Amino acid sequence: MAAEPLFERLCLIGVGLIGSSIARAARAKGGIARSIVAHTRRPETLARVRALDFADAVEADPARAVAGCDGVILCIPVGAYAGVMHQIAPHLAPGCILSDAGSTKGSVVRDLQPLLPPGVHLVPAHPMAGTEHSGPDAGFAELFEGRYTILTPLPGGDPAAVEKVAELWRRLGSTVERMDPDTHDKVVAIVSHLPHLIAFTICGTADDLAEETREAVLKFAASGFRDFTRIAASDVDMWRDIFLNNREALLEMLARFTEDAHALGRAVRWGQAEFIEDRIRRGRRIRRELIEHKQA
Ligand code: NAP
Repeated sequence: MAAEPLFERLCLIGVGLIGSSIARAARAKGGIARSIVAHTRRPETLARVRALDFADAVEADPARAVAGCDGVILCIPVGAYAGVMHQIAPHLAPGCILSDAGSTKGSVVRDLQPLLPPGVHLVPAHPMAGTEHSGPDAGFAELFEGRYTILTPLPGGDPAAVEKVAELWRRLGSTVERMDPDTHDKVVAIVSHLPHLIAFTICGTADDLAEETREAVLKFAASGFRDFTRIAASDVDMWRDIFLNNREALLEMLARFTEDAHALGRAVRWGQAEFIEDRIRRGRRIRRELIEHKQA
């Protein structure tokens, strides 16, 4: 028998890959919400969300969407949080839990906390699950299964609200971890944001090559380059916002990476086989560990 729903009326602000996956998983698994309200801003997306029929109500106005809800999850690019929060804050019901799925966490606390009405509990969250696809068609109910979701609860925040959000993600299939926002932002800078920066850059470098070389690159793309193009196919707004909202941590990781890349380049120049082998072995070990942790 399905558990009692955690929320009476859960509002998803943004129903692209992440928001629509939450809605689909909530329907498929039960025990999440008695009803789901979806808000999206563009008329094309609204029409698509209505056609896909994964929410009980679809609302074009964010203020109307959150009215009467006991849970609200922002699933929009992190750069849009402050603007949307200005619109919804006066309409959040006392006791409501406000959470999110954004890929940066320091900026989320910075943008949401000052506008938080009294009696509304903010519990930031980040599901470490995704694909390079976006929009309401891209979501699927199994997206969060076996993946980590990181919560960055506020100091002094309501423990019951934090536990409710943790339980939400467990029911969606995730394993929940807690962290402070700074640690979260550093971790995701190395495991996600820097790899995307490298992927966007390597595709740009290939694109800058002379015409005949570029064609050969596309024609003979080995798996290495192909994997980078998959990562680089990600959503423009989302990644612009992530880079701009995790600036310090990303720049720190980029500086460390650049140093290490120069060191490997130097070993190549001077024929230091042992150094090169050591780096390759480290890469192989990390891959093995990832597989052992069931994250590959
Ligand atoms: P997505 O598929 O591109 O969907 C974004 C949604 O946000 C759409 O419903 C879009 O609606 C809406 N939106 C975009 N700009 C907006 C704005 N300025 N104001 C209001 N609504 C806006 O994105 P997603 O992949 O679901 O990502 C959503 C959030 O989850 C982001 O914060 C992202 O960092 C985080 N996240 C993503 C992944 C991933 O791999 N994709 C993983 C973990 C966390 P319209 O079409 O109506 O504009």
